[in-house]
Amino acid sequence: MSFDELGLHPDLLRAIVDTGYTEPTPIQAQAIPVVLAGRDVMAGAQTGTGKTASFTLPMLHKLAAHQNTSTSPARHPVRGLILAPTRELAAQVEASVKTYSKHLALRSTSVYGGVNIDPQIAELRKGVEILVATPGRLLDHLHQKSVNLSQVEFLVLDEADRMLDMGFMPDIRRIFSFLPPRRQNLLFSATFSEDIKRLSSEFMRDPQLIEVARRNATSDNILQVAYPVGGDHKRRLLAQIIKNENLHQVLVFTNTKTGANRLAHQLVHENINAVAIHSDKTQQARTQALADFKEGKIQALIGTDVAARGLDIDELPCVVNYDLPHNAEDYVHRIGRTGRAGATGKAVSLVAPEEKRYLADIEKLIKRSIPMEALPGYSSAERFESAPSQERSHERSGERAGGRGRDRERRPARERTAPPQESVVTAQEKRPEEIPALIEAPFTPRPGRKKEVAALLLRRGSTAAE
Ligand code: AMP
Repeated sequence: MSFDELGLHPDLLRAIVDTGYTEPTPIQAQAIPVVLAGRDVMAGAQTGTGKTASFTLPMLHKLAAHQNTSTSPARHPVRGLILAPTRELAAQVEASVKTYSKHLALRSTSVYGGVNIDPQIAELRKGVEILVATPGRLLDHLHQKSVNLSQVEFLVLDEADRMLDMGFMPDIRRIFSFLPPRRQNLLFSATFSEDIKRLSSEFMRDPQLIEVARRNATSDNILQVAYPVGGDHKRRLLAQIIKNENLHQVLVFTNTKTGANRLAHQLVHENINAVAIHSDKTQQARTQALADFKEGKIQALIGTDVAARGLDIDELPCVVNYDLPHNAEDYVHRIGRTGRAGATGKAVSLVAPEEKRYLADIEKLIKRSIPMEALPGYSSAERFESAPSQERSHERSGERAGGRGRDRERRPARERTAPPQESVVTAQEKRPEEIPALIEAPFTPRPGRKKEVAALLLRRGSTAAE
């Protein structure tokens, strides 16, 4: 099938030609006609399948009827609203919207937390047809009346499972109350939990279910491999893999922010240009790190799930699970950063003996086994050897060895909480003992998080400006 056959607006087809896409991906081929026909859609699509274009293109096609070059804000009400879980994803989706709408007289912007709200207010007051937003910051704007959603015709929940996972359900419900009842609703989710089904039944009208890949499946384009290795030897093994396989661009996941900082530092000592990215970094530092990584200036980007979610990096060759995720679905999200849009990729998991149960959970979820390949010199028994001195220095500074649980990246109940001002930590700047123990409250299970969200909502409602 070609894009021409989908019946899209000629100015969209021109933009598609500019991007170099030759044919629609499966999710695009299936979703675009259904959205054009006006149906609500509930789509199960992994990241990297081209899902963003599958909702953006038909939305722009329909909104093209409203194109105008008037300078009056009243002529540019928000007609398409896309909710996304993280600022990175929101910015990426906005970039896609701009790419596909470049030949159309439609305005778009994105709003998300962690940055000054005032420029966003100024932008919104000029009027935009398409708004991409993270839920928390959008509520701020709604409370400040800097945006009006009464003319929204399209609502998209992108990575809906992530938004629920991050405790955004109350925010999303609140946002619904600002929307007109007659509108088209699209929900995209990599996985379908009972919560997702419940949410969809609340706001969708007879949605067409579209699934391009088995639920919770991992792409066949990704070569998955696991290495058994004692926790203390992971760093050495990772450095060896990066060097031996000549990996120029590798995204590494740790479970904690401290772990990300420490690993970045250690890799730099091994002459691997590594930078940590997580929610304690300023938005500017995260954006810069991502840009440098995309340009190949950074060889290894070390991230936690929250920070690295939604990253779209063309042809990312390799993802490494330095720590295995404790939530098996996170594995699907993590390795979905590679093997995107038909490219091949590799997903490496370093599995300490105590992490084998997480590997079993993952294999159960993705319904395939991940081959364990033992490397000479890296038996899992090595974990019983003495811990490196650096671990001990962290213990001295009051941090538990391994840091597990202390600084686990919290799923932000409100993503707009401004991170502390801190530049990207690279090992050139800090010695291990100087790396601050980034101690946060431990990860709160979902019921507790809901209360926290409610409390934050109340508190933030009166002090919305950042
Ligand atoms: P997404 O799943 O929306 O994050 O998209 C993943 C990647 O696929 C992005 O880099 C897109 O630019 C790319 N992409 C989207 N549609 C196509 C297409 N039809 N052909 C080739 N690449 C595409």
